[in-house]
Amino acid sequence: MGLTAVLGDITTMDVDAIVNAANSALAGGGGVDGAIHSAAGPTVLEECRAIIAKQGSCPTGTAVATFAGELPATWVIHTVGPIWSQHDPIENGTLLANCYGSSLDVAAEVGAKTVAFPAISTGVYGFPRELAAPIAVSTTLDWLNQNKQNTSVETVTLVCLDAENLRHYQQALDEMT
Ligand code: ADP
Repeated sequence: MGLTAVLGDITTMDVDAIVNAANSALAGGGGVDGAIHSAAGPTVLEECRAIIAKQGSCPTGTAVATFAGELPATWVIHTVGPIWSQHDPIENGTLLANCYGSSLDVAAEVGAKTVAFPAISTGVYGFPRELAAPIAVSTTLDWLNQNKQNTSVETVTLVCLDAENLRHYQQALDEMT
């Protein structure tokens, strides 16, 4: 069991499951979502469309899994982060924590041992990075602690595209581990 933060591009991560910062329509888009779909190829978007056709749009804070197409990972877990401007700060925090918790629940359901997350909501969705990092770290640590007896999930990697986010993660990890 372990939680680490690294600098990198999540599409290259050789893990069982990568998490995607998706929108509620699972429609693809820019940022990490666009990078994942373009590296994975069209099958991921086809699976996303089938999920939406079956269950409707995905509420903020929830997560669903598809296969990962041409990516090194086996699964993509699509979670819908909160849009900072649409909620008050407390609600934003709860919804962001729900993204990490529900994604880890789905990772366990598919039997993933290794999971990588991007910094959900800290791009276009506008969640302040210094607030998002401690929520990501504390929620993941709590989940790993609570589920350690009965989960496939062994390691979680928080993947940052830039040094600023890595600094926030490292500070949170230093304080909490
Ligand atoms: P959101 O809409 O949830 O804010 P974004 O994709 O705009 O999603 O940004 C979320 C975070 O993902 C940002 O911190 C951004 O720097 C990061 N990011 C963008 N592309 C990648 C990538 N290929 N790998 C890892 N992180 C990425």
